Amino acid sequence: MPPTMNRILVTGASGQIGTELLKVLRHKHGGANVLATDIQPLANAEIRESGPFETLNVTQAARLDELIAKYRIDTVYHLAAILSASGEKNPQLAWDVNINGTYNVLEAARRLGLLRVYIPSSIAAFGPETPRDRTPQETVLRPKTMYGLTKVAGELLADYYVAHFGVDVRGSRFPGIISHETLPGGGTTDYAVAIFYEAVKNGRYTCFLGPDSCLPMMYMPDCLKSVLDLMEADFGRLKHHADFNLAAMSFTPAELAAEIRRHLPGFQIDYQPDFRQAIADSWPRSIDDSAARKEWGWTPDYDLAGMAKDMLAVLSARHAAGKLGI
Ligand code: NAD
Repeated sequence: MPPTMNRILVTGASGQIGTELLKVLRHKHGGANVLATDIQPLANAEIRESGPFETLNVTQAARLDELIAKYRIDTVYHLAAILSASGEKNPQLAWDVNINGTYNVLEAARRLGLLRVYIPSSIAAFGPETPRDRTPQETVLRPKTMYGLTKVAGELLADYYVAHFGVDVRGSRFPGIISHETLPGGGTTDYAVAIFYEAVKNGRYTCFLGPDSCLPMMYMPDCLKSVLDLMEADFGRLKHHADFNLAAMSFTPAELAAEIRRHLPGFQIDYQPDFRQAIADSWPRSIDDSAARKEWGWTPDYDLAGMAKDMLAVLSARHAAGKLGI
């Protein structure tokens, strides 16, 4: 019988992407088969009760090995990381978590014979010397942030483990991810989530990027679809592994504000760029994702209009019920 993949461990499961990926993986594979791990507990009670949780600091290799053995894990989704803005505030921590965490996951995969591993990269892998429009799959990777350089190292390390040890590692370079379940954890594209909460709650938002900062973005349902589709792709068809360019939409804060105004005409925005402006200025405006489209059939469902309509509908309903939070 071919090996089946249904004993899953998710690192960083309490984060923006982890919380929602956990939900779809537990729906697909059964709650008991998907172990959530993080250094902080899951905030959402419904998700907390839907399956097992263990505290795991990904810098601790022995603990990771112990959990893989205890739960007979065959697949890891490695989402634990320190993101771009948090990483610039504490570059030493970003190095430790992102580099050693990724190394520990890949080493566990090699030594313990895991069937498949997912490790996301980011558009932060690019830098100011990279072409900023329709950034190609193969291009200059000279990021200026600690986060970005750990992502480049992670991509290269994943390729090394595929080539030298036959480990099946997959991953994409996510753009900024927009969602309404769990708030983002310290990235440069976080404004594109905060703006919706503030628009619904207060009708105005002060943006930490300038009006014309165009960045690639993606709505969470497309992000989740991309993870599931890439993990199910035929390994033999993949020429790339953990560095797929991925695109869905690109917009500036001014364009997003205009889109929100179509639904909330009184919405106001002003701009107070901070240190994150320099990070945004070093990233692409748009991405060429033709390799992902060709090798595993990637295609997004949401554009700016579809995403904004859905975000506002969900958050407005939550606000009306007095459950918006922040
Ligand atoms: P997040 O910050 O929301 O969540 C990361 C989680 O990792 C948090 O719950 C945190 O508690 C946990 N964590 C931090 N240090 C840890 C440690 N030492 N051990 C174990 N857990 C630890 O991040 P996210 O947005 O969910 O990102 C998930 C992955 O996707 C990351 O690899 C990130 O680089 C990548 N990514 C995200 C975006 C985005 O816009 N959200 C964009 C590009 C790439």
